[in-house]
Formats: sequence, C-alpha cells, structure tokens
Amino acid sequence: MENASLSMATPILSPKDQFDLLTNRTLLYHNNPATWYDRAVMFIFMGYPDHAIYDITRAYHLIKRVCDADGCKFISAVTLKVFPFEAAQQLYCEIVYTFAYTLFACRFKSQYITMCKSVLDMVLKIPYDENGFVERVQNIQRQCDIVCNQLFRSDEDVAAYDRSIKFVDRIMINGRYPWDTSDSRGLPDIQRRYNDMVQTYALEVKFSIQRNGLQAGIFAKTPIRAGNIVITETPSVVVNTRSRNVCEHCGTICIHIVRCQECQIAYCSDRCRVEANTLYHIILCGDRERVFKRSFAAVCAESYLFPMMIVKLFAMSIVMKVSVLELPCIQPLRPWSPSDMNSKSYVVIPYISDYYQITCDVFDVTMKFVLHFDYHIYETLCRIVIVNGFSIFDGETQTGMQLYQTISWINHSCKPNCCRSGNYLKTKRAINAGEELTIAYVNPGKSYLNRKHELKTIFGLECMCSECRQ
Ligand SMILES: [Zn+2]
Ligand SMILES: [Zn+2]
Ligand SMILES: [Zn+2]
Repeated sequence: MENASLSMATPILSPKDQFDLLTNRTLLYHNNPATWYDRAVMFIFMGYPDHAIYDITRAYHLIKRVCDADGCKFISAVTLKVFPFEAAQQLYCEIVYTFAYTLFACRFKSQYITMCKSVLDMVLKIPYDENGFVERVQNIQRQCDIVCNQLFRSDEDVAAYDRSIKFVDRIMINGRYPWDTSDSRGLPDIQRRYNDMVQTYALEVKFSIQRNGLQAGIFAKTPIRAGNIVITETPSVVVNTRSRNVCEHCGTICIHIVRCQECQIAYCSDRCRVEANTLYHIILCGDRERVFKRSFAAVCAESYLFPMMIVKLFAMSIVMKVSVLELPCIQPLRPWSPSDMNSKSYVVIPYISDYYQITCDVFDVTMKFVLHFDYHIYETLCRIVIVNGFSIFDGETQTGMQLYQTISWINHSCKPNCCRSGNYLKTKRAINAGEELTIAYVNPGKSYLNRKHELKTIFGLECMCSECRQ
C-alpha cells in the first residue's frame, strides 16, 4: 500500500503524459487499489467511462480480496498499514461510488445499470457522509430509475439495446484518444519503413493527413495493365469457423488433414501445425481452447471469428513476450478512427467490452500480467482488427477472417480499380502511374445511403469517391 495517493497532487500534464504517469504507477503498485482508482478517475474526467470501468473494477476487487462485502474489515486492514481511518473509509467509499458512477456512465450496456443499483445500495450502508456523499449516491440512484423506466420496458428492449452499436460523446483529438500520439511520429520515417515492405512490387505507400487522421494509401509507381496481380501476400493471422476442414493456420481447405494430437484441431500440413505451435497454439491448445469456446458461446453464438482473432493475437504476444500492439503483424496497421474529426461522437461496440473480460479469463490474467492486457491496449487492438481484418464469405455466411500487413493499407472506393481474391490483389482495369489503388470494403451495389452508413459505422469512413460525390 505504499505511495497510495488518495487525491492526485499531480501537476497539470497533457492527457498523454498523465495517462503514462498513471499507467507507470499501476505497473509499480498493481496491488494497490488507489493506483487503479486514480487512473479510472482520469478516464472518467476525460469522458471514457468504458475504459474507466475496468480500472475501477480492479480497484474494487483488490479491496474485496481483503474484506467482506461491508468493507469494515478492509477499513481496519488498511488502517493498520498506511491510511489513517478516515482516509481509508473515504477511499473505500469513493471507490465504490466511482465504480457505481462508471457503471451508470456505461449505460450502453443494460446489465451495468442493475449492477450500479446494487452497488449503491451497498455503499449507503456505510456510515459515511463527507462532501455530500449520500446526496451524490442518491442522485445516481434517481438517474438509474429514470433510465430503467425509459429504456427497458421489456426483455426484448434490453436485448435490442445491448446488441446495437452506440455513439457516445467523448473527446477525441484528431480522431484519436487523447493519450494516443502514434500519428506524431515523423511522416517520412513511417513512409520509408512501409515502402521497404512493398519494394518488390510496382507500388508505393504514401501517407497523407486527412479528415480521419493519418491515412495510408497504395499508389502505382508505373502503369499497370488490367487483370494483373499487383500483390501476393500470405495473411499474417487467419481464423475460421472450423465448420469445414479449413487449416487453422493458413486458412486453405485441407486435402490431407494433419491434426493436433492434443486438441484435434485441423491443419493442412505438418508445416502449418509446427508453425502454429511455435507462434500461438502452444498457448491455446487444450484447456484454453475449451474455456474460450464455452465463454464466447455465452456472449456471441453466431460468430467466434472476431474474439478468436483477438485471442490468437494475445497468444502470439505471450509467446513473443511483447505487447500485443508491438507484434510484427499488428504494428504497421492503423486503428479505426471516426470519420468526422470535429464531431465528438465515437462508436462504442458493446460486444467489444464483453469480449475483454472473457479474453482475460481465457488467459487467466493475474495482477502481475494485467498490464499486458490493459483495456486501452485491448481496445486499440480491436479497433485495428475491425478496420484491417478481411472477412471471408462462403455465399452469405462469414466463414473466416484474415489479417494482412500490406493489403490492409489499400483504401476503399465505391468504384474500385482492384479486387482481392484469396491472397492476391488484382487490377480490374488499367491503372496509370501515380494513381491510387482501391478496393470496395462494402458491396458497391448497395444504395448510397446504405454504403454511407456501413462505411461510417464499421470503418469510420466518409467516402469521397467519384460515385459518392455525385
Ligand atoms: Zn495450412
Ligand atoms: Zn492443440
Ligand atoms: Zn464512395
């Protein structure tokens, strides 16, 4: 409990510096509820309740570990160590209050409202009323009742509410989190690094600062004829529904199936089996695979693909002993940003936060490990996968998802000049030198309004192609 800070006496720092400072503190004192509490308060202050909730939950569980539900034992426990009694009681009450407040602020998930109400009932049992505490608690209680009466008249309402994509108001700087400064790295450096990766092709990668931040695009260096293959690339990560005999590692249909002897997962060859084992499967094989299937079935029966991708990437990061955002297959990719940088609206996809807790459960994340699975890292990863992952369809059914390093940089157009088939990027018509290569992210046959909505909500894009400008 050393160095616990109840009220941050931190000088005014930029959000990025403040975030780093508090994150370093949680790294040093990850068993101290006060450090997690401090960062949660910063998240709330900045308008990110969904980030705050995981920090405050950690603070709350750390306290619960040393006390009963009523908090009295905690108070005496910390009294013996560091805090004077009043400060310990205040910390406890403020943490529970902040927990309830973030649950309420995250009301894009209905279950949080119910949790919020029970937490508030609990904290009111503690005889504490400094700084208008009881009034603050009652104020949230009243707001909870209003929300419940307005939104959740029936179980169907709740289900529909939870499934939908929500826009929430939050502060974004150039379409990025306030603490995300990945765009401030030198543009020429980034460009040079990316171009090293495409030097074998008649292509170059150019960056420009656009409405939605730093944007990469692939351009032709020389004229390219129609029907030419411009990029051949094996996907860096593949997941599939495992409903057919698709190789778990490379995604091709298996002619001769080679199985993992432990969990019976299918590979197309011994080479894929060995490679998968060295890269991630050694972590996932067996129990984790079972935990994973069971838990995700509870959240999302229709598709494991997205969470499977996330889990695979975290497994890779454990094997390589690097942060998941530093993985070679992730590092060059850009995360999702909202298309309208002036608007404060930001899309929150409720299932992403559901998957987080499960992902932590699959890997049995302990406090020692927790920063490698920090929510902001996890969420950034999700935004990278959402915007860069390619869906694989068999007719109407999605059967797989793939991540590429280079093909992922290609931009969208509703009148594309290229198309992707398998691991190839092919030109649909002749392309001039200097022209940008594009593919369609959404079905170009759909109406303008449908395309606009899909592009904005899924990819954070406002299409400026010739079709859309008409
Ligand atoms: Zn294979
Ligand atoms: Zn296995
Ligand atoms: Zn368009």
